[in-house]
Amino acid sequence: MPPWTCPNNKCAHNKQLRPGQPCPLCGKEAKEFKFQEFGDLLKEKSKFKKSIERTKNHKRNLERAKFCPKCGSPNVDFLVYYNPSIWRCFQCGYEGTFLLEGAALAAKIQAHYQKSLERAHKSSAHKEDETTSVKLA
Ligand SMILES: [Zn+2]
Ligand SMILES: [Zn+2]
Repeated sequence: MPPWTCPNNKCAHNKQLRPGQPCPLCGKEAKEFKFQEFGDLLKEKSKFKKSIERTKNHKRNLERAKFCPKCGSPNVDFLVYYNPSIWRCFQCGYEGTFLLEGAALAAKIQAHYQKSLERAHKSSAHKEDETTSVKLA
């Protein structure tokens, strides 16, 4: 019996289908394959599956990445290497044990931080000027 399956190599479905049955994943109609072709198709499909998993892993890593909780910058590092529980942000000067995880959240904080910078700039009170210049120094 020659195998019938989903002919779409951008689709992870690799189970046998009935002749003419649409693929449950992508909707393509099943095609008859010779065994040699079927082997190649399975290779393509598993390559595709792996590439999906890689993208997922990449996303997961991004979600696990660390960001400054004050300004959302990814430019953070240990402040003291023998005490790697204190982090420092090179963008805003934040120091602390708490870091933010997740790129999506960091993007929000970045936008918020930019706005608050602009606001501080507009209404630059004398007191604030003093503290910012100290921080920047
Ligand atoms: Zn399919
Ligand atoms: Zn920061």
